[in-house]
Amino acid sequence: MSCEEPVDEKALKEKVERINHAYIVLSGKGGVGKSTVAVNLALSLSLRGLRTGILDVDIHGPSVPKLLGLSGKRVGVYNEEIMPIEVYTNVKVISMGFLLDGNEQAVIWRGPIKANMIRQFLQNVAWGDLDALVVDCPPGTGDEPLTIAQLLGAKSSAIIVTTPQQVATIDVEKCITFCRQLNLPITGIIENMSGFICPHCGKEVDIFSSGGGKKLANNYGIPLLGSIPLDPDIVKSGDEERPYMYFCSKTKTAEKFDEIVERIVYFEKSKQTASKADTEKEIPVIPPSQDKKDGEVNSISHKEVSMKFAVPTNEGKLCAHFGHCEAFALIDTDGEGKVVNETYVTPPPHEPGLLPPWLSQQGVNCIIAGGMGSRAQQLFAQQGVQVVTGAQSENPREVVEQYLKGTLQTGANTCDH
Ligand code: ADP
Repeated sequence: MSCEEPVDEKALKEKVERINHAYIVLSGKGGVGKSTVAVNLALSLSLRGLRTGILDVDIHGPSVPKLLGLSGKRVGVYNEEIMPIEVYTNVKVISMGFLLDGNEQAVIWRGPIKANMIRQFLQNVAWGDLDALVVDCPPGTGDEPLTIAQLLGAKSSAIIVTTPQQVATIDVEKCITFCRQLNLPITGIIENMSGFICPHCGKEVDIFSSGGGKKLANNYGIPLLGSIPLDPDIVKSGDEERPYMYFCSKTKTAEKFDEIVERIVYFEKSKQTASKADTEKEIPVIPPSQDKKDGEVNSISHKEVSMKFAVPTNEGKLCAHFGHCEAFALIDTDGEGKVVNETYVTPPPHEPGLLPPWLSQQGVNCIIAGGMGSRAQQLFAQQGVQVVTGAQSENPREVVEQYLKGTLQTGANTCDH
């Protein structure tokens, strides 16, 4: 009998297929509140009725059990599967902490053993069907996030947690580079311990420099999902093993977590809608736009392929302010340059860097606007979305039709900020 079982790819695939999406929570450094954020995001997701799991792959310092009031718990085995521990709103939890004898026990494992253990945590655990799996990784970009990202593949994306002090450091940049090298999409950045909630008056006070998260998000074209204040009650709830989102769900800080989760869910939904549309219709490869002067639009190459245009609107008319429009007209055209569908969608709340990835996720390949700032134009270019500015007609459908005929008149960029 062979002493080593062959790796069961099929079993892993079956488990991963039953997870709708996994969020791998990363941070450049320890102590920025990554585990706290991971656990509370998961609780917020589950409080919305989503079937949620938490996988703690921090093998050397698992803190998820303590944050969830599960210290000292052990997992059982049933039908040859490890049973996750279920807490609160049926959140299924697996952590290395459930397998260790005591908190003090040190784990000395090298890369391949760690990778195998993480694989078991996915493959041999009775996760069932999950809408969301939140994965808490150790800080940095080591074996654990690498392994889990590879095992989950296209089912996963990263959420990067940072603090106002850490935001501009090389550690955070390393996290971003790590995700890009692995082709792991980044759902967004969360700035934790940003501002302070006074325990006496409940007001929020900025004690460190603010705005770093926005700048970082802007520079890298990654959505800023939101900021969580420095809140003494978070420390208290951690120390008392009473998860914050469950026991303090009506506070201002809890509202911030909920807002972040709303954005995360919104992105996931729009991405899935877009990818469903992708499977039904082939998205064309758009040739790079040529340099043009105001008033000249080269649309020849777009006539032969089906396209999805986005036009910012207010009350159904072209809006000069791209970032502050009420709705986007999404206009599909066929390979002969005819409009085949026109719908209106409401954009997510205005945040720097949010619209380019969001529109790209809708499957948009060309934006026609009155005006757009240069930073947004750059971000669209990175997403492979073409931008035409200076459009003047009021009717979004006419704007697209004129563009496809090559008769669209454009003036100066009406809003350059
Ligand atoms: P990491 O996983 O990044 O090492 P932890 O989640 O373990 O960080 O948090 C480190 C410490 O910071 C904990 O004591 C936790 O209670 C505290 N903490 C995390 N986020 C906040 C916050 N927003 N306000 C106050 N304390 C926080």
